[in-house]
Amino acid sequence: MGKSLYCFNCDKDVKPLCTIQNNTYVVRHKTVHVEEQIFKCPFCENELINDNLNESLHNIYNAYLKLFELSFEELKEIRSFYNLSQELFSKALGWSKRTIIRYENAESLPQKQYLLIYKKIKNNKNAFLEILKSNKDSIEKNEYYKICQLINAELDLKTINVFLYVLKNNPLYKTQIMKNFFAIDFEAVKEIKHPITSFKYAHGTYGPVIDNQGTYLQLLVHQNYLKFANNEDDKILFKPAQDCDLSLFTKEEIIIMDKVLNQLNNKSASQLTKWSHSFKGWNDTKDGEIINYSYAKNFELTDNW
Ligand SMILES: [Zn+2]
Repeated sequence: MGKSLYCFNCDKDVKPLCTIQNNTYVVRHKTVHVEEQIFKCPFCENELINDNLNESLHNIYNAYLKLFELSFEELKEIRSFYNLSQELFSKALGWSKRTIIRYENAESLPQKQYLLIYKKIKNNKNAFLEILKSNKDSIEKNEYYKICQLINAELDLKTINVFLYVLKNNPLYKTQIMKNFFAIDFEAVKEIKHPITSFKYAHGTYGPVIDNQGTYLQLLVHQNYLKFANNEDDKILFKPAQDCDLSLFTKEEIIIMDKVLNQLNNKSASQLTKWSHSFKGWNDTKDGEIINYSYAKNFELTDNW
């Protein structure tokens, strides 16, 4: 502590003595405890005015944020976890950019409802995607895709290449893609104890679907991995726009994918739906609920057709 402070009592600049005091404050009806530095004159022991009010206020506010398992520093980290600028982050959450700047610079104490959202999206991409999706209509289309791209909506290269493998010489409708993926991952968990993609599956009306499916297919077309093709009835089929990188898969994984593709090949949408409705994991869940991979033991690829 090299800084001098002025003591009114002694009427001179002194090198202050510094002690730590545990103080209690009430912030928005919550009691917070803060360790504070207290400066005293070494000659008369008068308490000296600490001109660093911002720092102590910052500490009091941070103590309040801690009640939400957050800190001002973490507010910035949460945004950088999503790889987004303040501009795009604010749009994704439906907040004003000014709000984000003020909070990140600790210029104001965040409102409780904002802190609850920060807490929710901390290391939780699915929660973030949910909020992003709910704000989709108020975000410009290009910006929406840019956000999806930047946060790389959990699409790892291997998962992307499953799309390229499944659709190679085999253009499919969205519902068929869902059934193929669901079958590949549940068969893989059953046989080799892990799914091939990074997807989770949810209960859809016509059978299991990739959780957050809408976002993924649009993103893949936007990133030039897939393209649309129309059939004679003008229904949308998905085709690969690139070659598949087979080096990403083990021999066992390729065998499983081939087995599923052979079994599901040339099945109509209603056949696929009927078959997927016989699956215990689908029957035990409600609309939108995640179908846990523990149901893989009940999965039958070749039965119930
Ligand atoms: Zn003094």
